[in-house]
Amino acid sequence: MNDVLPEEIGRWQRVESAYARTMSLHGYREVRTPYVEPTGLFVRAIGEATDVVEKEMYSFRHHDEDLTMRPEGTAGAARAYIEHGVQAKEPTTRWWYGGPMFRAERPQRGRYRQFSQLGAEIFGDAGPGCDAEMIDMLVGFLGDLRVPGVQVLVNSLGGPNTRTLYRDALVKHLTPKLASLSAESQRRLQTNPLRILDSKGEADQEAVRDAPTLHDFLDAEDHAHFDGLRRHLDALGTPYTVEPRLVRGLDYYTRTLFEIKGAHDKLGAGSTLVGGGRYDGMVADLGGPQVPAIGYAAGLERLLIASEIEVAPNVVDALVAPLGAAAVGIALGIARSLRRSSIRCEVDTRGTSLKSQLRRANALGARVVLILGDQELGDKTVQVKDLDAHSQETLPIEQALRVVVDRLVAASRSVDSRPPHASKERT
Ligand code: AMP
Repeated sequence: MNDVLPEEIGRWQRVESAYARTMSLHGYREVRTPYVEPTGLFVRAIGEATDVVEKEMYSFRHHDEDLTMRPEGTAGAARAYIEHGVQAKEPTTRWWYGGPMFRAERPQRGRYRQFSQLGAEIFGDAGPGCDAEMIDMLVGFLGDLRVPGVQVLVNSLGGPNTRTLYRDALVKHLTPKLASLSAESQRRLQTNPLRILDSKGEADQEAVRDAPTLHDFLDAEDHAHFDGLRRHLDALGTPYTVEPRLVRGLDYYTRTLFEIKGAHDKLGAGSTLVGGGRYDGMVADLGGPQVPAIGYAAGLERLLIASEIEVAPNVVDALVAPLGAAAVGIALGIARSLRRSSIRCEVDTRGTSLKSQLRRANALGARVVLILGDQELGDKTVQVKDLDAHSQETLPIEQALRVVVDRLVAASRSVDSRPPHASKERT
């Protein structure tokens, strides 16, 4: 679990606001669900024989309730969707969410025990048009974040029937090779054989190399759905690779499944930025109506590692720099006036040299420094030093306030109107 210190928060906020903007452009509304849910919800939604449920959940018993810190966001969203009868109110629902998730995994770079996901769900649209749009939206979002080497992998898992048929075929294929499988995969052959396809072990990979693929078991409708997805992605010009062995760790997926990778050199080739897919059966399995759904989650910490966006520090817009104790009172008044005009400012009350105050102004990302020395104190003036324009002028205090406010308001407008991919932004 990590602390996010103020010097890092600018990049977090930059990614979060780009995400909120992307979602709003696509008609999604934000939903916030609790961090804790009944354990049974995750067991039913995610599947008993998954890594997450078997060994990664932070679960506890409180009085006579079994509770779990949410390991992902889809189960809670589906629960809320059912509980609030949303289907009866709107034919399709687009929700996005962001926030911490908890999994007791082995920590390593890009893998934490408390991590943040940015996710979304669409309820009530069976696709494949919305599936393609979702993938294309994510590719655009990663482009806004300047993530290099984005790669989309897609697959179709078919319906529940396909899964059963394929599972049987896979077990039949692997049973004669049982002795060569890793201990984990031997166990999974009984509980969740599809997960063996995901195994990184060499012997396991060898054993599945010539195994049948899911695609051999898709029915006509599944094929039509998957063809539709590819056609739409082709029409959008969104590059993707069909990966027939892509399965992913959560049990609930049906038909469309996708992963998006990127920034291989920073994250390693195996590290996924976004994972998602369709889960047409989950809402009904949880006791709700039969509603098709699709969703995904992106790991925010991984996005931050992958993104090449830099955010310049910008704690305040202006620093007021009194030189000597006598100027502090006037400086505090100037700062108060500026704040009334929505200018963020700080007064350096430490009584240090101008040089050290200018260093502080730079560290805070201030654009303007208002300097008050003995001369200015006597003349009721102030020096306005513009660090961006490299200019300096001495003005009567009232006039200086007007000039600073005008200049900073104009500057903030030009920052706000910059496109989201502008490289160096102030937060
Ligand atoms: P999942 O919910 O397992 O499909 O994961 C979706 C995305 O969440 C992954 O692609 C990662 O980017 C991120 N993620 C999952 N688990 C972790 C973790 N333990 N630490 C950091 N990010 C994670």
